[in-house]
Amino acid sequence: MGDSRPELIRDIAGLRDRLAVARKAGSPIGFVPTMGALHAGHGALMDAAKRDCNFIAASIFVNPIQFNNKEDYEKYGRNLPADLDFCAAHQVDVVFAPGPEEMYSTEQDAFVEVLNVSNGLCGEFRPGHFRGVATVVTKLFNIVQPDISYFGEKDAQQLAVIRRMVQALNMNTQITGVPTVREPDGLALSSRNQRLTPEERAYAPILFQALDAARLKALGGCQSATEVRAAGLDFLSKEPRIRLEYFEIVDAEDMQPVTHISARICIAAAVWLGSVRLIDNIAVQPLIVSPGR
Ligand code: AMP
Repeated sequence: MGDSRPELIRDIAGLRDRLAVARKAGSPIGFVPTMGALHAGHGALMDAAKRDCNFIAASIFVNPIQFNNKEDYEKYGRNLPADLDFCAAHQVDVVFAPGPEEMYSTEQDAFVEVLNVSNGLCGEFRPGHFRGVATVVTKLFNIVQPDISYFGEKDAQQLAVIRRMVQALNMNTQITGVPTVREPDGLALSSRNQRLTPEERAYAPILFQALDAARLKALGGCQSATEVRAAGLDFLSKEPRIRLEYFEIVDAEDMQPVTHISARICIAAAVWLGSVRLIDNIAVQPLIVSPGR
């Protein structure tokens, strides 16, 4: 491909030294935190970063404290050589890939918790998950001190938690959300898709189609969250092999449930296909027609 490999740095002190040099050279630093097993969704974050900043740091770290399921943590895809090639193709300058002992060298007895927006959806079904995410992202922000950080809209509640954390704790980085990258059949790219069997992969797009059915209901002018939700659930029920965790209509900013749709909403769902949990969401700006028109 002719792309030069990014510099691989495994320790915090080494990364700080390298970034100090980049900063001194006047480069705004763009930061893309990931857990590796990189795919085109991560690539979109890196490409967005490259458009804004001339120095890009990506992190690859499977963060143990955000997993509430040991098997999910252990089975999470890990392939550093392939990830480095991927980063090279997306013009990443530095890859920070610490081991857990580098990130958690002492007992982690300080945590960051973002209230309210972490409630419900994944926050309800994955206790401690957002505390783990907010804590590791805070650590990474303190280490990297990025000018702009990039997160996917695919994980809408996570993006909302990070935005709120940065605002509430006066963190000095701008947060940029990047639209979800999908397969041609609508399935959102995810590292966990690799673990679907061919049969599960074949019916997995139903998740997106159900979200889309709910979206169309809202765009058709329906302002009842119950009815919009029912449109999505009806569609999902066509595939009995999918186990529902949640399917909710929430406010797109605070991620809390709405009953009457009058502002931008997020239709968010989590489902299980066999032993694989998938999440997806679609944001919708309802077309509100004022009465009398
Ligand atoms: P992960 O490696 O799954 O923790 O994801 C790292 C970042 O990539 C997060 O900000 C995710 O929201 C984002 N991401 C993951 N999948 C996608 C996708 N399909 N489209 C856009 N962004 C994504």
